Amino acid sequence: MLKIGILGGGAAGLAAAAFCKGDATLLEKNEKLGKKIYITGKGRCNVTNNCALYEFFPNIVRGEKFMMSSLNAFPPPALMAFLSDRGVRTKTERGNRVFPASDKSSDIIKAFASAVAENGVKVMLGTDVKSVEKSGNAFCVIGGNEKFVFDRLIVATGGLSYPSTGSTGDGYEIARAFGHTVIPPTPALSAIELSDNVKPLEGLSLKNVRASVRLGGKTYSEFGEMLFTDGGVSGPIILTLSSRINRFALRSEKLCIDFKPALSPETLDARLSGDFKEFHNKDLANILPELLPKAVIPYVLKQSGVSGSVKGHSVTREQRYAIGYSVKNLMFTMRGLADISGAIITSGGIDLTEVNPKTMESKLVKGLYFAGEILDVDALTGGYNLQCAFSSGRAAGLAASEEV
Ligand SMILES: Cc1cc2nc3c(=O)[nH]c(=O)nc-3n(C[C@H](O)[C@H](O)[C@H](O)COP(=O)(O)OP(=O)(O)OC[C@H]3O[C@@H](n4cnc5c(N)ncnc54)[C@H](O)[C@@H]3O)c2cc1C
Repeated sequence: MLKIGILGGGAAGLAAAAFCKGDATLLEKNEKLGKKIYITGKGRCNVTNNCALYEFFPNIVRGEKFMMSSLNAFPPPALMAFLSDRGVRTKTERGNRVFPASDKSSDIIKAFASAVAENGVKVMLGTDVKSVEKSGNAFCVIGGNEKFVFDRLIVATGGLSYPSTGSTGDGYEIARAFGHTVIPPTPALSAIELSDNVKPLEGLSLKNVRASVRLGGKTYSEFGEMLFTDGGVSGPIILTLSSRINRFALRSEKLCIDFKPALSPETLDARLSGDFKEFHNKDLANILPELLPKAVIPYVLKQSGVSGSVKGHSVTREQRYAIGYSVKNLMFTMRGLADISGAIITSGGIDLTEVNPKTMESKLVKGLYFAGEILDVDALTGGYNLQCAFSSGRAAGLAASEEV
């Protein structure tokens, strides 16, 4: 019987262990399984996205083509059926986001842990894998104080985000030692840090705004919700934007915020003109709250070079144009993405050209497999990342079980 080793008991490792066949052992350095799954979806676990696969794929930022085979073989309905067979009912919310009906991420972990146990996989917790070597056809793994010998090895040790969950990038070293290329890990679904003093904006949450960044001759732009944090910006559209721009070396580029994307410059100008007439005896700083959150007004006035004490009736056409321009193009300077340790996902990882997308087997080393976030695959928010980890994990588990 084939001896299969699975490194990592996160989403990908658990799926590999649930679907493999043979004499399998899962080595996990934490004292429990699925530590990261536990914190996903703010503790509710957005486990997948219940959309058709043709709608799923565009949400994979990198590795879309690579993921096609394993996602086709184990798409969102199959994952939901797998959970339902283990007593975990799911519900679908806005944007086709799927959660356990209980709103408890621990239910997802329990479902996988019970499938792993049913499958007869030996789970070794508190087993930190320190080294892996290949001797002939066998993989010799030193984990904890023990030596393990496997015929097949699945590396599912995750990326570099949220290292307190155990994802400390150990698998990259293992892969490099076997000659694999590791695309430099960068934060994805990350906050963006700004050089400007945005302390007065901290906590300001915005809806229906557009955030844009121009890089490499292309404009990356997202519409929706965002918020100002201590020293930067975050929230749904910023996270998405970060995943689109994280492969550029950011050198003080501008982040442009359009506070009124629904209004054309002409419509906005007519609106400003009307407001200035209606409140002709008021100061500008007291008129603009009709249009904008109060905290933003000093930034708009500063960029437009207009004093807040100018009365509505004294605003010149040029000043009005400048204000309108700033409302639709308020510029901040990006310092860079926030540290990878706080990113939701790690972008980068094992070069996909070196891995078979159907089996997840290394093209360089026979019997070696990769699954989950360690691969150079990253997706947007909405349950896509966990689904990718489960699908690639399952593919690796099944393929590693096949006798030659
Ligand atoms: C705060 C947060 C919220 C998220 N929410 C969602 C969400 O709602 N929906 C979604 O789709 N995605 C979400 N994600 C992303 C999702 O959690 C990951 O994509 C997914 O967990 C990756 O699974 P993985 O198994 O590849 O890696 P991991 O979950 O990182 O698992 C890797 C495992 O390997 C173990 N390991 C590492 N090195 C060693 C070693 N040397 N020896 C032994 N064991 C080792 C680690 O301890 C860990 O348990 C979220 C991520 C974060 C950080």
